[in-house]
Amino acid sequence: MKEKGNISINTENIFPIIKKFLYSDQDIFLRELISNAVDATQKIKSLSQMGEMKDELGDLTIEIKLDAKKKTITISDKGIGMSADEIKKYINQIAFSGATEFIEKYKEKDDSSQIIGHFGLGFYSAFMVSKYVEINSKSYIKKNKSAYWKCDGNTEFEIKPSQKKERGTDIILHINDDSKEFLEEGKVEEILKKYCKFLPVKIKFGQKEKSVEDGKDKDGKPKYKSVKEDNIINNPDPIWNKSPKDLKDEDYINFYKELHPFSEDPLFWIHLNVDYPFNLTGILFFPKIKNDFEVQKNKIQLYSRQVFITDEVKDVVPEFLMLLHGVIDSPDIPLNVSRSYLQSDGNVKKINSYITKKVADKLTELYKDDRKSYEEKWKDINLFVKYGMISEEKFYEKVEKIALLQSLDNNMRTFEEYKKFVSKTQKDKDKNTVILYSNDAEKQDSYIEDAKKRNYDVVLFDNVIDSHYINHIEQKLDKVQIKRVDADILDKLIDKDEKKETVIKDEDKESLKKLFEKIINNQSTVVNVESLNPDESPVIITLPEFFRRMQDMAKSSGNNPMMMGGPGEMISVSINGNHRLIDKILKAKTNKTKEKIASQIYDLALLSQNMLTGSKLTGFVQRSIDILSK
Ligand code: ADP
Repeated sequence: MKEKGNISINTENIFPIIKKFLYSDQDIFLRELISNAVDATQKIKSLSQMGEMKDELGDLTIEIKLDAKKKTITISDKGIGMSADEIKKYINQIAFSGATEFIEKYKEKDDSSQIIGHFGLGFYSAFMVSKYVEINSKSYIKKNKSAYWKCDGNTEFEIKPSQKKERGTDIILHINDDSKEFLEEGKVEEILKKYCKFLPVKIKFGQKEKSVEDGKDKDGKPKYKSVKEDNIINNPDPIWNKSPKDLKDEDYINFYKELHPFSEDPLFWIHLNVDYPFNLTGILFFPKIKNDFEVQKNKIQLYSRQVFITDEVKDVVPEFLMLLHGVIDSPDIPLNVSRSYLQSDGNVKKINSYITKKVADKLTELYKDDRKSYEEKWKDINLFVKYGMISEEKFYEKVEKIALLQSLDNNMRTFEEYKKFVSKTQKDKDKNTVILYSNDAEKQDSYIEDAKKRNYDVVLFDNVIDSHYINHIEQKLDKVQIKRVDADILDKLIDKDEKKETVIKDEDKESLKKLFEKIINNQSTVVNVESLNPDESPVIITLPEFFRRMQDMAKSSGNNPMMMGGPGEMISVSINGNHRLIDKILKAKTNKTKEKIASQIYDLALLSQNMLTGSKLTGFVQRSIDILSK
């Protein structure tokens, strides 16, 4: 009753091609074969539920066995099984032609390895790693005899009856010499954990030792013994499939730890669950952001009916949410197509905007329900929120009202609240609200202190994204200007058009300007004599807002700021004409004395900005010693 046959297809031999193509992603053969075992198991479950199968279901665990001596991997299921005719039909004809068609279609394409990684070849991927493959199967239909099939990777196969007694299918891979790594327990377990972690049927891979309590010793201390138990690879019932109302915070946190062992607890999470117009479940976690973003990327895993597909979710998840962690499971994401197709796919677009909306809703809910904890989380989430506001108009509209400004005294306010808060103090002559900010409170301390003297508030913008964010919101917000606290003298930052009296004459102004220009000795530095408060600094160095922003943006996009003039070249120097030291310069008898005082106070201004270095610093120290010695 042994039958031999040829797989009827005109391609000479697809296996060398399969091997070559899939070299980079060989691991997937296990995913493919185990997915088939899972399908066969799910089918028997449904048949039993519908009453089409009357026998006991029994233990449905799928088992993976490794035999290093015989050089085999066996995948055994207790699913519906196949008769000889079914093997001929499903494996020889349908599966084979499927694989051939696939290869034909993609062998010319450059991105084939990527596509294959997402798609898989089904049963025939077994030949990537096998000399030959055996199937031993018994159908759930009693009258069908058990069947044995063997194929060595050429187009010939052999089929005959077998002795298999139990329902289900064993797939036996005889691993080829190039693929010996797959006979190592550690390697197989790693692949199983990657692809099968959440498959809906229990997957057993050998046994593992566990220590359990075994009575007490004579001192009453517990004794332990080591026992073996089944090594179950997966969690067949992951929480993303459950209803949020049946879950506690603890469940989410435990699940997060399962996905990302050794991570800190997440800040909060979103449970996704849609069934119209597409199917999608999943959980997205907001992690604490670390400085090293790159490590945190690609931490969302994409599943299709609990089968792991990829952790490159670039096109499915909006870019600004790439730092989130978690899982998305959708049978509706097309996985057998190229990336450019994915981007234009209608479902993917819908999924993208659904996730954006869900995230905005969750943030709004947090803000409304518990403002205090929302404020605490702001430090960690502001990067997402700001990035989202810049890159997605829809997201901007949804969260504009809950985006916060953090003052240096740690008060947090929305834009609306902030505008009210500074409405009496920080409006200029054109009724613009001027938001003053610092990106480094330590460095800008002297400016911040001067601002405080006028009862101005200063907010903190010290995130990598803030220079872009500031540009963006300034265009969006009506009658709001945002300026760094050291961008100009305060009278100009918030120009209220108040005439300040000057105590010095115009010709004195002119001579002061000349004097300082001579000392500074730099063509591109602008010197102005201003009428400031007598208790503000005698000399103030500022870097114009527009120029500094250009520098910041260049820096954050990786360009060299020195290419654009370099720091220090475009600075403005304001001389406080009302300061007593300026009066002292005017009254000094010799030019030498005038220059000495002017140099000293200019250097002090540089010093407070951390801008005095090298020979200039040495000169300043020497001059100070001379002055004190007299
Ligand atoms: P796909 O799974 O995409 O249909 P495959 O090449 O993986 O393609 O499998 C072809 C067919 O062979 C399956 O559709 C199924 O009918 C049958 N099959 C494969 N493995 C099993 C199994 N373990 N138990 C029962 N049927 C199987």
